[in-house]
Amino acid sequence: METYTVFTFKKNKKASKEILNTIKDWLIDKKIINPIPEENSKFNIYYGDLGFKEATDYDWFGEIEFIDKQCELQHVLGWDLGIDFMLPEKIVCPSCKTNLIEGIDPATFYGESNKKQDDEALLFLEAIKNGIKSFNAGTEPLIACFLCNKKHLISNYDYNLDMVFTNCAIVFWNWPELKLSFQEALKQKLGSQTIMLKN
Ligand SMILES: [Zn+2]
Repeated sequence: METYTVFTFKKNKKASKEILNTIKDWLIDKKIINPIPEENSKFNIYYGDLGFKEATDYDWFGEIEFIDKQCELQHVLGWDLGIDFMLPEKIVCPSCKTNLIEGIDPATFYGESNKKQDDEALLFLEAIKNGIKSFNAGTEPLIACFLCNKKHLISNYDYNLDMVFTNCAIVFWNWPELKLSFQEALKQKLGSQTIMLKN
């Protein structure tokens, strides 16, 4: 499995491209990444470079991907898991504050057992799953809570960090542990809402 350390934030910021370009230039300037992106890559992926020692105490490095497209990040990070939808632990409605998938058993959800599941919750999950596709395609859908009937933007439900709807992320693919000083510098550049996730 690919390993990652990622810096992102949940709320959409309009200036994400500018923020990412500033950080890209900073990483190129410090020779932490090579200025030439990976050849033929449809992704925004760069190789590490000889200045990588500023980012880690180890003697190897991986690649860095800059994501400036609207996406649900956990499904990007888990691309090699071979499943098209990763069940979060909870999905809490911002209005009625209820965990709408309380009774959903993961084993049953993935077809490994056949306990009775809540039909409304399953339909809701289907809407979330399709909603991720729309979000990734650039439109943020409204999804109704089946308990209070209020509609919310898909990114406004609380998934803890099992899902992160964003348009700005920097993914360190297959890097060793990053230095704390480097993590802090990156977080400062991305802003106070920065979340760091790693597997
Ligand atoms: Zn609700």
